[in-house]
This record gives sequence, C-alpha cells and structure tokens, in this order.
Amino acid sequence: MPVACGHFNIFAMSKKVYIETYGCQMNVADSEVVVSILSENGYEHTNDIKEAGLILINTCSIRENAEQRIWGRLKAIGHLKKKDKRILIGLIGCMAERLKAKVLDAEHLVDMVVGPDAYRDLPSLIGEAGSGHRAINVLLSREETYADISPVRMDKNGITSFVSIMRGCNNMCSYCVVPYVRGAERSRDPESIRSEVEDLRAKGYREVTLLGQNVDSYRWKTDDHITTFPDLLERVALIDPLLRIRFSTSHPKDLSDELLRKMSEHPNICRHIHLPAQSGSNRILKLMNRDYTREWYMDRISTIKVIMPGCAISTDIITGFCTETEDDHKETLSLMEWAGYDFAYMFKYSERPGTRAAKKYSDDVPEETKTKRLNEIISLQNKLSARSKKQDVGRVFEVLIEDFSKRSHDHLSGRTSQNKVVVFPGKGRRKGEYVNVKIENSTSATLLGNII
Ligand code: SAM
Ligand code: SF4
Repeated sequence: MPVACGHFNIFAMSKKVYIETYGCQMNVADSEVVVSILSENGYEHTNDIKEAGLILINTCSIRENAEQRIWGRLKAIGHLKKKDKRILIGLIGCMAERLKAKVLDAEHLVDMVVGPDAYRDLPSLIGEAGSGHRAINVLLSREETYADISPVRMDKNGITSFVSIMRGCNNMCSYCVVPYVRGAERSRDPESIRSEVEDLRAKGYREVTLLGQNVDSYRWKTDDHITTFPDLLERVALIDPLLRIRFSTSHPKDLSDELLRKMSEHPNICRHIHLPAQSGSNRILKLMNRDYTREWYMDRISTIKVIMPGCAISTDIITGFCTETEDDHKETLSLMEWAGYDFAYMFKYSERPGTRAAKKYSDDVPEETKTKRLNEIISLQNKLSARSKKQDVGRVFEVLIEDFSKRSHDHLSGRTSQNKVVVFPGKGRRKGEYVNVKIENSTSATLLGNII
C-alpha cells in the first residue's frame, strides 16, 4: 500500500533514473558508479528524461561557463517538475561540493545535493527528498574510492571504457578548484582495478582508459609492498595483449622514465600521452604552482620521443592567467610549436572562488586579450594538428574498430594507438576487431584510409 508522507508520495514515483553528465571523463566514470548504486536499490537507468522519476545532473565546476551551462539546464528541466511534483531532481558532483546548501536555496530548482564522495548515501537522500526534507551530503572522504562497486556501463559502443584508479588531487595548482571539490588524493586497491578490467574484457570491451587527476602519483601500499603507476599499468597490460590500455592525466612534474620504459615494453599500452603544459612561460608556471619549468617540460617531451618514437603527445593550455604578458603568451606559442602537439584542449583562464589564484592574484588580463590570445593558440594548434595528420598519410596503422562512421554505415570508425580517429570502408569488418589501415588522406579532425 503506497504511503504518502510530506508533500510527495515516494512509492508512487517511477523508479527510473535519468543521469546527465558534464565535465571530464572522471565524471562519466562516476555516473556509472551512481547508476550501479541506484540499481542495487531498485532503480532502472533510462536514457529518456520524460519517463524518469529521478533526474540527476552530474556537474563540473572547473570553469565558470561550465557552471552557467548547468544552471541553464536546471531551469530548462524545471518544467518537468512543474508537470509532476513527484519527480526528484538531484545535483551531484563538483558543483554540489563547491556550492553546498546554496544550491538547494537557489530558486528551488533541486531537491538534493550530493558531493562526489557521498554517492553511497544516495538511496537514503532520495528517501529524505521524497518526503519533502532538505537532502544534502557533501562530506569529503579520505578513503572513498568506490573500489567494490561494479559500474553500470552507459557508454554507447561497448568497446571502449573508463576505469577510475584514484580520486582527488593533492597538487594545488593555483587556478584549480579540483582539490577543493574532489578532496585529497587517494589510490584505489590494484586488485579491484584488475578485476574491473578483467570484467570489461570478458564483456567484450577492447580498450580501457585508466583515470586519475595525476596518474603518475598512483601509489598503493601494503605491509610489504608498494604498487606504483608503472607497476599497475604493467599489471593491467598483461591481462590480455588484445586489450588496449590508455591513461589520463599525466603530470609533467611526475612523468618518470620508468613509466615510459614500461609503456615501450607493452605494445597494447597506447602510444599517446596527454601532458598538460598549461603555459610555456616559467614565470606563469611558477604563479600556477605547477612545480616544473619550461625546460623540465621540454626534457620530458624529448625523453618520450627517444624512448617511444611515434608516440602522440597532446596538452592542455590555459591562456590569460593572472599577469600574463604578451611575452609570456609568445612563450606558450613557441612551446606549442616546438612540441608539435597532435592535439590540445585550450581554455581562457576562469577565476574560481576559493582557489589560491583567486585569493592572491588579480584576474587582470582583459577579456578581449584573453579571447585574442585563445584564438591565436587555437589557430596555431589547428596548423599543428593538420601537420600531424598529413605526416600520417601513406603510413599503415593498427586501428581498433569502435563503430560505424557518423556519416554512413558503409564506413567504419576507429582509432589508432596514437588516439587519432580513422574512417574507412567497412568491407564486412565489425566493431571490436583490429584492422590494418593505410592512410590515404586527412581532414581537419580525421584520417581517411583503406583496410589492407
Ligand atoms: N588533473 C589534470 C591536469 O592537471 O592536467 C586535469 C585537470 S582539469 C579537469 C582539466 C584542465 O582544465 C586543466 O588541465 C586546465 O588546463 C583546465 N583548467 C583547470 N582550471 C582552470 C581554470 N580555472 N580556468 C581555465 N582552465 C582551467
Ligand atoms: Fe587541478 Fe593541478 Fe590537480 Fe590537475 S593537477 S586536478 S590542474 S590541481
């Protein structure tokens, strides 16, 4: 017999959960953990927001515009709640952690607020919200890694997946909100990582990406043994030579020669390193508290190229950080040119309340200057990306087929070990297979070729 308590009748609600994920791959992996916790409690995942009794928005706080987008989205889904008051809306993840109870007060758009370390508490928070109470848990933990939870995969292709190996961050880059919203760094038990990867392989997955904010500082200590990131990577790579392994993100200050050597020994560890530089100017790197110099960063890239010729390198750049001059900006451009990045994510600096940069420095680069510099950086990277793809024309790459191409079912799409997308005529091949593809041409984003 359904019991009505408070304003809402929780038992009459649809037990379908719809989850929308913003931000990084870490959030994608977290959403899978959340759906797993909820499915243990009788919820079924749906991709159709209209049939959901529970709507969760997994949020990102990394830049102000990410948060603004989410507020816009919350307002847009508010109309569903107007139609059916029993629908519960939860804001989870980084924004929940940053804004805490303020989110509940703001225009009454959400019923519950749940930080990234409190997902196990979701079932009881849903109960509280369903009975009309304020439901909030934003406690950060020093231990939580959700190691024992087997994520419910929500990816589309069934071939590539993410596995979180650690949470939080201890680095305190001065611009970054991550240490505040995701807490202190903690590594996950390597045995639980191995078994999650084994499980993915058994389900037909052919590629896993190991995720952490700074994978190089992964460390798991028992009484008589320490597992480092190179150890973990090797352990995972040995599971199956046909299972590709990727990882993200590396921090230049911690990227070791040992890791590079381990990568070079295992062909199934992909030949791609994402190595965020953030800036090419030593003065700015110091203000950012990145703990390396331009020269150190360049040495890391040179070493990658010596140990693994042909390894792709990508980066993140922040432009217009506090006090950045035209000369600092030129140093970033020259570093990019020197490194010849295959790919880059480029951002305008966005001041985040509570960070060290927000407290100590003034966000003094005018918006127009940030825009101008960002455009220059993007246009240089477009040239570098095009050059990197042109150099692949005429070469043969092993490609893992991920799906049909977006444009036609006669063509397939996959990626090289270097993480470049390749489109080619299918010739009866299927996703999950490896094929050798000779590259004949390239567009700005894609390599085009034929199976040989
Ligand atoms: N842990 C990774 C690292 O250190 O590179 C990734 C951190 S963050 C999720 C991804 C990228 O967002 C960063 O590399 C940085 O370029 C960018 N970012 C972080 N804080 C920012 C801010 N306040 N304004 C603009 N970009 C920012
Ligand atoms: Fe943020 Fe720096 Fe940690 Fe990356 S390493 S998450 S940029 S504090």
